[in-house]
Amino acid sequence: MSSTPFRIIIVGGGIAGMAAAIALRAPGRDITILEQSRLNTEIGATLSLQPNATRILQETWGLKNLLKDSQGTVDQGFRIYNVEGKLVNEVKLSQKTEYGADRVVWHRQDLHEYLKRAATSLDLKGKPCTVRTSSRVVACEPELGIVTLEDGAKLEADVIIGADGIHSVIRPTVLGRQAKAIPTGSSAYRLMISTKELEENAPEFCRNIDPRSPFTSMVMAHECRLIMGPARGGELYSLVGLVPDEKMNEDPDAAQSWVTKGDRAKMLETFDAFPEWTKSVLKLGDNIGLWQLRDLDPLETWTRGRVILIGDAAHAMLPTQGQGASQTIEDAEALGAFFHDIQHIPDLGEIATILQDVFRCRFERASLIQKYSREAAKPPTAKGSNEIRMKPDEFMDYNCFYRGAKEWKKTQNLVSPA
Ligand SMILES: Cc1cc2nc3c(=O)[nH]c(=O)nc-3n(C[C@H](O)[C@H](O)[C@H](O)COP(=O)(O)OP(=O)(O)OC[C@H]3O[C@@H](n4cnc5c(N)ncnc54)[C@H](O)[C@@H]3O)c2cc1C
Repeated sequence: MSSTPFRIIIVGGGIAGMAAAIALRAPGRDITILEQSRLNTEIGATLSLQPNATRILQETWGLKNLLKDSQGTVDQGFRIYNVEGKLVNEVKLSQKTEYGADRVVWHRQDLHEYLKRAATSLDLKGKPCTVRTSSRVVACEPELGIVTLEDGAKLEADVIIGADGIHSVIRPTVLGRQAKAIPTGSSAYRLMISTKELEENAPEFCRNIDPRSPFTSMVMAHECRLIMGPARGGELYSLVGLVPDEKMNEDPDAAQSWVTKGDRAKMLETFDAFPEWTKSVLKLGDNIGLWQLRDLDPLETWTRGRVILIGDAAHAMLPTQGQGASQTIEDAEALGAFFHDIQHIPDLGEIATILQDVFRCRFERASLIQKYSREAAKPPTAKGSNEIRMKPDEFMDYNCFYRGAKEWKKTQNLVSPA
């Protein structure tokens, strides 16, 4: 093995960046994550990984203590209520054991922290990756493998992973054109409440829904819906309220950051037709987050020269199937599989071929899941009706039976990556 390391730069230290670092760790490689923030902003939101992603974490990457070390909550299923507050459908995930892994819900910060610890720990193979915070990338030269930081410093690598999220600066350098995420016409309110506070101040809610029971509950009207469930083993309760922009009475363009605040009175006005017991929760909690939901149309490519886009930078999607972060984990798994056998420093041609293979492996599936997420965002009832036609598990078999890049390659009759 050469004494010069194979250098990988990952732009963005979110879920995608950390996952890519875990997947790519190997002897003889130097992995650096460049993150613009200080990584210390606590965002009050939960995030779920679906069985297709938790299986990669636990089996492919061998993170056997995932649940114990990250305070993840195994979700038992979906309960759907109509706008009158009547339970109309229940899907038990315990009956879907064939997926081979669980749907798990985290406080977003807990999963991120866990992945960061794994990416930088001494326990996995290869050198721990280096995380450089307050390092905002402003430019990238894909063929040369150079990124420029805000302070003018230039860093060079053999491979650059653009994991810089929905407003990616790497995306236009790959495409040679601007491709901004598109407003989808919906926004999301986010609330995180301590379960104790909920039990003390919203007893009527707790008579309808046990906030410590690990189920995802959805209350659905024609245009708006509430998606709720416990996190941190029942210590916290999270709510997301999906709302059409025109019903929201807030400025959607202002809601472009995780830290934008929502207005409680306007939120209550928007959910006026919802049962009193659900509205009692909307009156609790200190911080209401607001986030305008944008997604991308499938891009013509994710790769150019030494650079590849992954995660929201490549395929931002609506959160209606909870697949955004899971697709990010799948991208990382594909990078790990296709670079598995590379023990030398590949030249530009070899790198470009491997990155094209990763793109071919991932593109069709990620694009279809973007499309399914748009489908799942359509009104769940006919106008003027309370009858819910939407099925929360409609696309689950397609989403969750995925077995990773190695299996995909077999279907292409190509030599399998290890
Ligand atoms: C309301 C809502 C609920 C959601 N719920 C779920 C869910 O339950 N399950 C799920 O799977 N997904 C969910 N998602 C989607 C999920 O959050 C994203 O798909 C996922 O976070 C994408 O990860 P990422 O690392 O690609 O991007 P991000 O999490 O956005 O991370 C990008 C990182 O790059 C950094 N960065 C950006 N630009 C630069 C730069 N120029 N230089 C250096 N660093 C930079 C950012 O600071 C950030 O840390 C939800 C999304 C929303 C909006």
